[in-house]
Amino acid sequence: MAATDLAATATARREALKQVLAQARACTRCPELAATRNTVVFGSGNADAELMFVGEAPGATEDERGVPFVGRAGKLLDQLLEGIDLTREAVFVANVLQCRPPGNRDPLPIEIDNCHEYLLRKVELIEPTVICTLGNFSTKLLRADSTGISRLHGHEEERIIGPRAVRLYPLYHPAAALYTPSMLEALRADFHRIPDLLALGPPEQPQAFEEPVPDLDEITIEPGTPGPHGEPEPAAAQLGLF
Ligand code: URA
Repeated sequence: MAATDLAATATARREALKQVLAQARACTRCPELAATRNTVVFGSGNADAELMFVGEAPGATEDERGVPFVGRAGKLLDQLLEGIDLTREAVFVANVLQCRPPGNRDPLPIEIDNCHEYLLRKVELIEPTVICTLGNFSTKLLRADSTGISRLHGHEEERIIGPRAVRLYPLYHPAAALYTPSMLEALRADFHRIPDLLALGPPEQPQAFEEPVPDLDEITIEPGTPGPHGEPEPAAAQLGLF
């Protein structure tokens, strides 16, 4: 593909991602989460990232700031990235859920289901080569299997996620590693293999899709529409999408 075509495609993907962001910000699929959240934590980073991380759900700090992984677990993620010469601006970070479960309870199956389509659209539009799932929730969701993270961490595999073939690489969740030194050691060691996985390039993509990821419900939102609590539109720079 010519460079100009590639740029046009990247621009179109970014515009589509902004639409998904607008839809997410108005989402009321999970009534309890929509009623209790302060912000919708869509994800942050590079909308063209080769490397994507998927955590569990926003915590209190993330819910306040509208950005994923900005608390203690986020600081550890930043350090781990620095250890492989990457920054948050170079990767895209998202979660299984975009809204904070009250009291930091576990995501409910119905909530995971409701939010799944948003995650698939992000993967479709960002086109990452490697997706690191952080912890059990994202690993089980994206592998569609109940095998736990302690058996899977550090073992990459090719998987079809939505319409894309990606290298899926399960890792321990940084929040869990904060309290368990052996997990932290494993997380650091697993992290150091990420550059090798990126160097492999994208896996071969499936040819055609009879069932593309369905479009999210048609929701028309004007830019700047406040959320259910009147929260302002998150700063463009914060989301890193613009
Ligand atoms: N833990 C997560 O899984 N996601 C966040 O955004 C913060 C903590």
